[in-house]
Amino acid sequence: MKKEAVLDYFIWNSELVSTEKMSIFDEISPQSVYEVMKVVEGIPLFFGEHMDRMHKSLKALGIKLSKSKDEILYEITRLVEKNNCRSINVKLVYDKGKSGKPHFLTYFIKGEFPQESAYNEGVHTILFHGERETPNIKTLGGSFKEQVQKAREREGAYEALLTDKEGNIAEGSRSNVFFIKEDGLYTPPGKNVLLGVTRTHVMRLCEQLGIMVKEELINKSELEHLLGAFITGTTVDVLPVGSIDDIQLSTMENQQMKTLIKAYNEEMKRDIQKTKVILQEKNFL
Ligand code: PLP
Repeated sequence: MKKEAVLDYFIWNSELVSTEKMSIFDEISPQSVYEVMKVVEGIPLFFGEHMDRMHKSLKALGIKLSKSKDEILYEITRLVEKNNCRSINVKLVYDKGKSGKPHFLTYFIKGEFPQESAYNEGVHTILFHGERETPNIKTLGGSFKEQVQKAREREGAYEALLTDKEGNIAEGSRSNVFFIKEDGLYTPPGKNVLLGVTRTHVMRLCEQLGIMVKEELINKSELEHLLGAFITGTTVDVLPVGSIDDIQLSTMENQQMKTLIKAYNEEMKRDIQKTKVILQEKNFL
């Protein structure tokens, strides 16, 4: 696995290790399960939901994590302090280990955060034919990440939307996707996608805001009739799409889009505040 920890330290099986000594990353197999969370003001965003998903992914592979949520929360706050960095993405990796001794890594990674202007203008995306083998599980393996990255770079696209043989769009290569139509939002069904933490929050907010969300596949032939589209994910939050291949979308003119971005930003603030109180109560801060 790529030695991808950034800044000065990472944590391996509860031990603080210098990023000058990343040889342990060579032992991590593609079957490992991982999570990525955004750290905002030194606090992991939507921590509980990310941990629940990691437990579910591990359970599906017959693994029970022995590390507690509190231990992981403590490791993240320790890295915030030791690396002197309060805004970044943190990655957790569980690997069952070759000799039966599992590895658990907690480390900061370089996130490809969109520029501020992208939230007003929308990003360019491309269609890419490819399906993830086990859509509901967040594993390192079985991915075509490199091919997708090359295609994105070639086309100057921020994200690639993955299509199946019939031309239906399931999700972004590292995000979920929502399409805006006259009657509300459309997003691919849960069974076809990684159940994004951001996606879940967006769907809950839409319910509160009275915005209809239908879980239904959208075919690429329908794209030109859309009012807009957006992607969701830990790194991007809720990010408007300005174009898909050569189809231009005026997503940011859509009132529902504006309402949703505002509501999501407030939701993030609430969650950070809630976790901050928990960290203070546990004397982790
Ligand atoms: N879909 C895929 C394939 C992803 O890799 C990701 C994030 O990495 C997402 C969706 C978005 O999930 P989340 O909102 O939990 O970051």
